[in-house]
Formats: sequence, C-alpha cells, structure tokens
Amino acid sequence: MIKLHARLEKRLDAEPFVARVARGRGGGRGDLREVQFVDGQDEPSPGYGGYLLAEGLEEGPWAARPDAWPIPEALGHLSDGDVVRISPRSGELWVMYRRGSTSNSMLLTERCNSYCVMCSQPPRDVADDHLVRSYLEAIPLMSRETNELGITGGEPTLLGDRLLEIIRKCRDHLPETSLHMLSNGRMFNYLSLSREVAEIGHPDLMIGVPLYSDLPHRHDFVVQADGAFDQTIRGLMNLARCGVSVEIRVVLHRQTVERLPQLARFIARNLPFADHVALMGLEMMGFVRMNLEPLWIDPADYRPQLTGAVEHLHRRGMNVSIYNHQLCVLDRGLWPFARKSISDWKNEYVDECVACAARDHCGGFFASSSLRRSSRIRPLTPDMIPPESATSPTLSATP
Ligand code: SF4
Repeated sequence: MIKLHARLEKRLDAEPFVARVARGRGGGRGDLREVQFVDGQDEPSPGYGGYLLAEGLEEGPWAARPDAWPIPEALGHLSDGDVVRISPRSGELWVMYRRGSTSNSMLLTERCNSYCVMCSQPPRDVADDHLVRSYLEAIPLMSRETNELGITGGEPTLLGDRLLEIIRKCRDHLPETSLHMLSNGRMFNYLSLSREVAEIGHPDLMIGVPLYSDLPHRHDFVVQADGAFDQTIRGLMNLARCGVSVEIRVVLHRQTVERLPQLARFIARNLPFADHVALMGLEMMGFVRMNLEPLWIDPADYRPQLTGAVEHLHRRGMNVSIYNHQLCVLDRGLWPFARKSISDWKNEYVDECVACAARDHCGGFFASSSLRRSSRIRPLTPDMIPPESATSPTLSATP
C-alpha cells in the first residue's frame, strides 16, 4: 500500500498549509505554495515556500530551517505535481493528490445521514470543516491534465453550499477533468439541490448512488435508515430530470446478492436513464470487519445471480460494469464487464497471481482482502487470456 498519511518528527507553532510538491526541478518560481522535495540528487534551491527533506538529510544544515520538513522514507514516492497538507503543530503530512495517479479522490466530510452495514468509511460526527477548506486550496494546485477526480465522504451533500463551492472550483480550475461524486442520493430528494448542482454547469459530472434492493425495506435495512429507499429513488429521478448524469452502485454481499436479478430488472424498468450500473465486490474495511459473518459470501457462490443481473442489464441496453472482482471467480462471459477498479494505493495481488497469465487483465484485490477472500482463486493459463478483440461486452464467450 502507498502511504498517504505520515507523522513528522518536527513540530512548529504554525498554521497548517497546502502546497504542491516540486521535484527534479531547479529554482522555484517564487510560488510560496510550492515545496521542493530535496533528496541526494537535488540541492535545495531558492524560490520555494518550503522544503521536504528526504530520509538521511534530517541531520544536514537545512534541517534547522523553519521551512524545512524532514519526511519519513515511506513518503519517498512523492512526485512533482503532488499536493500535500502539512500540519506543523501536530506534525502530520497528508498526501491530498498524486499527479500520476488515476485514483485521486477528495474526502470532504466524515459525517453521514446513513449508517450502512458494510460502510468501509464509517461515519463520524466530527467537526471536519478543514477538509473542504483544504481542498478549496488544493484544487487550483492540481494538474489541469488530471483525467478524473472523485468526491467522497461521509455524505458530501450534507455540506450544502460548501459542496457547490467545491464543484464550482473544479469546473473553473480543472475544466478537462471528469468529476465523480459518491452520494447516497437522499438529499437529492429535494429538487432544489438537484437544480443547484445542475446549474453549476460542470462539463463532466457524474453522481454515483448506491441502491441495494428492489424492496424498500431491504434497502433501508442495508443503509440502516427508514425511508431511505424512497428518498434515493426520488433523488435519482430528480438528478436525471435536471440533466445530471447518474451511476447506480450495488455493493454485493450476503444481504444483497439473493435478489440481485430482481434488482437488475427493477433498475432496467424504472431507472433506464442511469448512465452506468456498477456491481461491486466488498471491501473488508470499516463496518465489514464488525459484520463479517452476516455479510461475507464467497463471490464464486453468487456467480448465477451476478451473471443473471449483468445479462439482463446488458440486454436492456444499459452500461454495466463489475468492480472489485478477480477474473478467476467470474464466469468467462462476464470478463468483458470486469474493470480494474481498485484504487492504486490499496490494490494488491496474492501469491496465486504470480503464475497467472491473466495478471495484466485482472483487477486483483483490496489490500484488506487478507481478512477474507474467495476460496476459488486459481491462476489462469495462457489459453484463457481474453483476446485483444474482446474489449467490448458481448456475453458471447463460453464460461
Ligand atoms: S490468480 Fe489471476 S485471475 Fe485470479 S486474482 Fe490472481 S491475477 Fe486475478
């Protein structure tokens, strides 16, 4: 796993600050929002707002400067264009954005109005206004060539106007960047919020909303909130009515897989406007660890439901993908729908993968899968590798 948070030895009585990392460059541009990464190769140069000193330089002459921050070896991955936040009083460094990553996401709040039984990021009712403030500073420092940026939480819509401010900031500073927001969709039950988001006019915004059952009481059970199903369905319809792209997300576990084919029919019949449906494997984090037995089911054991759901959605013309599943546990006919969806910083492969011919095509595992993974993980042989031509879903391959 790539480390995104680290403790620094140094402490200083100063305000937290957000800065872009400069690495492998000469002198600074006089932009105090840039910190130079100094290692054995690069000498410190003037013109930067601060200096990150690589492991081994903490005893050197620069270390005594108030604007120099010795960092642990685990942060040696920091690259030119990354954005960090340093909290001098607590000695924390947080990697907010990695320029070379395709998995950048902005966690805007830890608060949430649902309490999903499998939440990988359990909500906390804490004062976390600094998150939005920090990202409002960070967005202008991100590369305009960033392909995609996520918004997540908690529930971002609880932020109200501050969420709108974030979306506007992305529209203005990252006009070429796709913005994908995860939301439980309940606040979009208010048409006014859907309208306000639409009126920002972000050129490429999609909102991913989870739906766990075709039965209201089953969905409400999973999210632990009465009335949530009705609010979410109305929210999805309001967003579509206002012209905002929506994605439906279904996390697959023992409480949701049984009626997955019925849910697929419900989506195709009632929510055909959805731009994408993502059927997602479970991440073994947060509440999943507490509720492991009632949630865990070997993905190989729900192949029939998954295949039935994908076939139905695909045949009804919907854009459907499978996230967070390994190719060796899927029917071969589903391989064209499988995406390498796990964020790079927490994506791993296991011993069986070393000898697997499909390694480059397979999305692998969450780092947390060491807690529980399918018992049917098997390396695949070269004759089973998907042909190059099988890049679009056909459902014609034979399992
Ligand atoms: S064995 Fe192959 S198909 Fe299975 S998880 Fe590893 S890389 Fe993927």
